[in-house]
Amino acid sequence: MTPIFQHLETLAVHAGMDGVAESGSHVPTIDLSSTNPLPDVDSGGAAYEHLATGHPLAEGQSAVYQRLWQPGVARFETALARLEGTEAAVGFASGMAALTACLISIASAGRGHVVALRPLYGGTDHVLATGLLGTTVTWCEHQDQVAAAIRPDTGLVVVETPANPTLELVDIAAVVAAADGVPVLVDNTFATPVLQRPAAHGAALVLHSATKFLGGHGDVVGGIVAADEEWAVRLRQVRALTGALLHPLAAYLLHRGLRTLPIRVRAQQATAAELARRLGQHDAVAGVRYPGLPGQDPRGLLGTQLHGGGSLLALELRGGYEAARAFVEGVEVATHAVSLGGVDTLVQHPASLTHRPVTPEARPGAGVVRISVGLEHVDDLTIDLLQALDRADRVSRPRRSARGGGSPRR
Ligand code: PLP
Repeated sequence: MTPIFQHLETLAVHAGMDGVAESGSHVPTIDLSSTNPLPDVDSGGAAYEHLATGHPLAEGQSAVYQRLWQPGVARFETALARLEGTEAAVGFASGMAALTACLISIASAGRGHVVALRPLYGGTDHVLATGLLGTTVTWCEHQDQVAAAIRPDTGLVVVETPANPTLELVDIAAVVAAADGVPVLVDNTFATPVLQRPAAHGAALVLHSATKFLGGHGDVVGGIVAADEEWAVRLRQVRALTGALLHPLAAYLLHRGLRTLPIRVRAQQATAAELARRLGQHDAVAGVRYPGLPGQDPRGLLGTQLHGGGSLLALELRGGYEAARAFVEGVEVATHAVSLGGVDTLVQHPASLTHRPVTPEARPGAGVVRISVGLEHVDDLTIDLLQALDRADRVSRPRRSARGGGSPRR
């Protein structure tokens, strides 16, 4: 690695750009070919075999067919692997398609038992709970339960940190040790490689819903898994055979998104940290979940594993469901919508939306709202979110007073 590539910001701008300048362009060209010319039958057949079994395109080989290999997708994969510090990465049509490939890979190898640490994104929880892909699951509520849950047929341990939507932190190295050789998958969607590089702590698979921070502008759906080349071969094969490929236009936007990732993540984080402090003062708020707040990092992971609290926070509202509804329906600068990690602020009610499929015992409380903080000015967001909290307070205060709850704090 040349010295100029030692910093993440430089990597984010330049990784995956090999050969672009030599081709006479300043940015990669978008190749939309669904198929590729074959020089002759024998080499075409050999290339097909090579790619359909998950191997990377060899020098001078035809890419054969878009489902087997796509140069723009490969560029995005190279860039993300550099940022995560892994040998390789494999792009997919969505974050769920990326997870699906990991689960199919272990189930088809006869190790379809998964140990999963809650909370997880609702869709991840749902696919594991249904066993739709031939996996079985043992749920852990605490990372100290992981070691005892491992069985001879366990193929994967799945964790998310910071977790969706409670923002709890998991000690990745401790889970890797507890997994005792079973590969650990870390969903790094919330932190991004700017704040956390799970592979450096022993994670075998680092998963992203690229739809979120990597794209960053709310206009592309994609997923990616960073891993070593051995895993990448398996995952490319699943992708080739199931057809869960990332579209080249999406790959282009995601690769472009990486170039501003560090600056976006840090700016959004600064605003989120300030909002976590300001919003916690409001009467309607019983508690704020944000990794940067005092008392919310019991394992001391901030500064060692996680380099900043990120830009997601969750508020626990005193008025339960009615207050949460008034809040998310009352925002004006922010938007009431699922998703996260984009340039604009989004709010949502996890129990009704992203975590709706989760079993009631593990579902987030009815009064929890999640905020994904964007790039708007902190003071405009403060005004907007405080007025939405006032609405939440107004709808829930009569009920709380009748029950004798809700002591005013201002
Ligand atoms: N992981 C996390 C943490 C998520 O928040 C999401 C989606 O919200 C996913 C995975 C699934 O990603 P996608 O929606 O791109 O399929």
